[in-house]
Amino acid sequence: MSSSFYEATVLSVHHWTDRLFSFTTTRDSGFRYQSGQFAMIGLEVEGRPLMRAYSMVSPHYEDTLEFLSIKVPEGPLTSRLQHIQPGDPILIGRKASGTLLTQNLLPGARLYLLGTGTGLAPFMSIVQDPEVYEQFAKVILVHGCREVRELAYQDRLSKDLHEHEYLGELVAGQLAYFPTVTREPFVNQGRIPDLLGSEEFFARLGVPKPDLAGDRFMLCGSPAMLKDTVAVLEAAGFVEGNMSHPGHYVIERAFVDK
Ligand SMILES: Cc1cc2nc3c(=O)[nH]c(=O)nc-3n(C[C@H](O)[C@H](O)[C@H](O)COP(=O)(O)OP(=O)(O)OC[C@H]3O[C@@H](n4cnc5c(N)ncnc54)[C@H](O)[C@@H]3O)c2cc1C
Repeated sequence: MSSSFYEATVLSVHHWTDRLFSFTTTRDSGFRYQSGQFAMIGLEVEGRPLMRAYSMVSPHYEDTLEFLSIKVPEGPLTSRLQHIQPGDPILIGRKASGTLLTQNLLPGARLYLLGTGTGLAPFMSIVQDPEVYEQFAKVILVHGCREVRELAYQDRLSKDLHEHEYLGELVAGQLAYFPTVTREPFVNQGRIPDLLGSEEFFARLGVPKPDLAGDRFMLCGSPAMLKDTVAVLEAAGFVEGNMSHPGHYVIERAFVDK
């Protein structure tokens, strides 16, 4: 087995829907990552590692790792991965990477985390990072899905984190969680690019309409969601950031359409 991976053990598995599940694994003490990053994870198939990019849901300081996964019926990895059980081996790449880092953004007052589907995953580690609440007065997490039952981690985001021993106070004071769906009635409805163009969305959050001085964005979703959301941001003058030039927004694909 290549030394670029290590073998971890599955600890728990939770199925949200027939298309979505999450799981926790052991963590090698040498595996380090920053909030918002992803790593390659996978299974050994016919003696070879079959690896795919996965964002870490778990905060960087946790002893175990957590991932949120799609189940693609014919998908080379997830057609198998969806059957994992506690005790099973799983491969984890030793190197973490990704662009959803606060150092790629200019300082600001509010941080918007805009995710659809499994694009929520990197934001789960970010909203559990105390440093993020030092850098931004307000953190606004918007998770868009088609159906309500696809809104993974709703209880953790709206309740458990508020009661968390160390994070509770920060989360209660600074995190706004805005789940939204597009295909059925719910308290919040609509696509993320459309919400960004609506006065009501910002009024409900109790924040001013975004401006270049105060607002920063991280985007993680389907290619279509990224394209439409970037169009809205660029039209308002926001500029993409990267390692060498911090900007107003950063993006990561939640998956690649083949
Ligand atoms: C930077 C990055 C981070 C990623 N993080 C995650 C993550 O945290 N969780 C996760 O489940 N996937 C994530 N993915 C996608 C992941 O790498 C795989 O594509 C996914 O696990 C499916 O693998 P597969 O071999 O079964 O099918 P693949 O052959 O990889 O994909 C088959 C098709 O399924 C669709 N698809 C793949 N992944 C998704 C998805 N997540 N949501 C909706 N449709 C999808 C696409 O249309 C794709 O063409 C990420 C991808 C990238 C590039």
